[in-house]
Amino acid sequence: MDSLLINDTKLHDEARQGEAFSPALADASHYKKHFYIESYGCAMNFADSEVVASILQSNGYGATRNFEEADLILVNTCSIREKAEATVRKRLTEFRRLKKANPGMLVGVLGCMAERLKEKFLQEEKLVDLVVGPDAYRTLPGLIEEAETGQKAVNVLLSREETYADIAPVRLNSNGVNAFVSIMRGCNNMCSFCVVPFTRGRERSREAASIIVECRDLFEKGYREVTLLGQNVDSYHWAPALHPGTEQKAVNFANLLEMVALISPLLRVRFSTSHPKDITDDVLFTIAKYPNICNYIHLPVQSGSSRVLQLMNRTYSREWYVAKVNRIREIIPDCGISTDMITGFCTETEEDHQESLSLMEYCQYDLAYMYFYSERPGTLAARRFKDDVPEAVKKRRLQEMVDLHRRHSLQSMQRDVGKTFRVLVEGFSRKTDSELQGRNDQNKVVVFPKENFKKGDYVMVRIENCTAGTLIGVAVQEDIAGKAKR
Ligand code: SAM
Ligand code: SF4
Repeated sequence: MDSLLINDTKLHDEARQGEAFSPALADASHYKKHFYIESYGCAMNFADSEVVASILQSNGYGATRNFEEADLILVNTCSIREKAEATVRKRLTEFRRLKKANPGMLVGVLGCMAERLKEKFLQEEKLVDLVVGPDAYRTLPGLIEEAETGQKAVNVLLSREETYADIAPVRLNSNGVNAFVSIMRGCNNMCSFCVVPFTRGRERSREAASIIVECRDLFEKGYREVTLLGQNVDSYHWAPALHPGTEQKAVNFANLLEMVALISPLLRVRFSTSHPKDITDDVLFTIAKYPNICNYIHLPVQSGSSRVLQLMNRTYSREWYVAKVNRIREIIPDCGISTDMITGFCTETEEDHQESLSLMEYCQYDLAYMYFYSERPGTLAARRFKDDVPEAVKKRRLQEMVDLHRRHSLQSMQRDVGKTFRVLVEGFSRKTDSELQGRNDQNKVVVFPKENFKKGDYVMVRIENCTAGTLIGVAVQEDIAGKAKR
């Protein structure tokens, strides 16, 4: 057990780990060569795989879901915890066997693990032909050519500018309703436990105009929900001064949210991840103003102890975080709030752990992603502190946290019984085609009888029952224009 996720979400969907991708629309049969791509980790990695698919498709490679018929196998990797890397290593060993039978086939490693391990990958994991970091995907065609000559091809250069703004991602395994849109890359925060600043480089924001073009295009193609992605969306800042020659105005995250919301009232807007130190009242008022910006904020706290938060270099205290949660509830009273938590960080005592539990008790999160601390080489914590909490203690604390959150999430679901929500239909329910499944504003999964509704519809659903992960209801009326906000 490395992490536990309660409820259902699309941000780090355990069910999607290692998912094989193929385009939702394009016919791969007219391509001479085929690539197979598997993705691990967070939503940003899944979004990156769609950029990679676009680059490869423009260079004559069609996607396949069957790795046995692929000329090129790519694994888009995650380094966030040791277990994530171990999963990829195991998968690469399986591909090694396949390569023995088909020596012409190329295997490449993309993403955070490629960036972290660089050439070491070629020495240690003898099977890979390509190692490509997250800012080097444009060079993939050249690297593939190089690898085809039998040389090992590596590009792990990080960039201060690359945002892939001009590349239209090829939507993979999409339900045609929800899409991720990357608005920035990298991270300038130096949380001491985190490898992301090292694997994904400095923070940079993507040009606002290109984000709007992508979102509008998705809407015109029938998509009804976009999730704007970044490691720290609240520090989004597109400044013309940094891009001489443009006449556009400076755009911050509140402005961007508004611009996307104005595309159409029928396009739902979500975003992730917010950092407690950066989320502003402006952002909260913008969410409150537009009915199509979902009342849901992922606001990771990591620990409830100010002492541990300081060691983690999160730059806020427990009191600051509580004040943010209070402010959210004041400005957006029905806002869903979720978090990330780490147990057993260096020096964490039983008292610190109790503070994490009491903070969870106070916040009553609708959703929580909980992990035990996994030391990552090269991070500030690995260099400065001893990983001194025994694994058994980390796991016991994690289990206590999970048990507590299970109670909170069930109570949160039970509070919704009797309420009516506007639900965006994403498809059939997991159990039966006679029911549809979608999510409400607060990101909760809602299931209800199909009647004449279909994917992409907005439906008002009255909740009659629930489980710990699902609200169960009936349609009460169709709602096109959306609910009114304050
Ligand atoms: N940028 C986001 C933020 O600041 O909240 C999240 C980035 S990270 C991809 C997702 C989560 O993984 C973090 O919020 C943290 O809870 C967890 N995480 C990161 N490094 C970890 C580590 N070394 N051990 C355990 N969990 C970790
Ligand atoms: Fe990692 Fe912190 Fe950046 Fe999130 S904000 S990606 S946890 S360094």
